[in-house]
Amino acid sequence: MKLILIGPQGSGKGTQAKLLSEKLGIPHISTGDLLRKATGELKKDIDLYIVNGNLYPDEKMLNVLEERFKERDCKKGLILDGFPRNLKQAKMLDQITKIDNVVEIFISDGEAVKRISGRIACEKCGTGYNLATMPPRVPGKCDRCGGRLVKRADDTEEAIRKRLKIYHRETEPILKHYKHFRVNGAKDIEEVQREIMQNLNN
Ligand code: AMP
Repeated sequence: MKLILIGPQGSGKGTQAKLLSEKLGIPHISTGDLLRKATGELKKDIDLYIVNGNLYPDEKMLNVLEERFKERDCKKGLILDGFPRNLKQAKMLDQITKIDNVVEIFISDGEAVKRISGRIACEKCGTGYNLATMPPRVPGKCDRCGGRLVKRADDTEEAIRKRLKIYHRETEPILKHYKHFRVNGAKDIEEVQREIMQNLNN
């Protein structure tokens, strides 16, 4: 199954994608994580864009993603989180694969800013936490693997506002391009997960 999760920053896409990945046995591909993991010259190029909250150019982004699609674990399916981000990317994706389900997770901008401000993640395994709503058992340490918990460089208030603006202007319109179903991301994690599972076809 190939699945896309679309929603603003802080809507819980990453959290839901991780859970779905475990349940469905298909990889969670976060384009943000792919970019943050890059090294060397590629990292230097990526940092010119992402630290300030701007999008990485479409063609370059697609190259990074296509490399990831070639890996074996994508044979059974995949969950895309953070891609496509605009109509051009959606059309590029149509050329390389067929998507079975598109899910929109919606929350208000106010809720998004509140959530992202408290957001931290494990630098080793990527598990996300929130200081206000979902703190780790031991401050600064990942419950799962003991890795260090860090704040993302682009989770400053200024970059968050810019990313939300880009979301409304460029990403939201692609929902018209896809048949999709909507879930309310303000509900608790298990409830959102249940609604997504119930609505998946294939
Ligand atoms: P995210 O982790 O999804 O919030 O993404 C973090 C940052 O990575 C974004 O603000 C962009 O700079 C970049 N990025 C992630 N996905 C894409 C994409 N599909 N196209 C362009 N840039 C992206």
